[in-house]
Amino acid sequence: MAKRVIVDQEECIGCGNCEDVCPDVFKLDKDKEKSEVVKVEGGPVKCIEEAMEACPVSCIHWE
Ligand code: SF4
Repeated sequence: MAKRVIVDQEECIGCGNCEDVCPDVFKLDKDKEKSEVVKVEGGPVKCIEEAMEACPVSCIHWE
């Protein structure tokens, strides 16, 4: 089964790094200033891991 990725909405500061690195999976909601996962399963693992590394508050997790 594919791993599911989540963004902790409490922790996210809306910097947009994850969308820059991996736009197929993460989308920044500019009104809420929070990032959302638009592709929960089956996203490219390598780019999700890069987004995790690029996140300044480490709020992207595998579920
Ligand atoms: S990189 Fe982290 S803090 Fe920045 S928008 Fe994405 S999830 Fe939020």
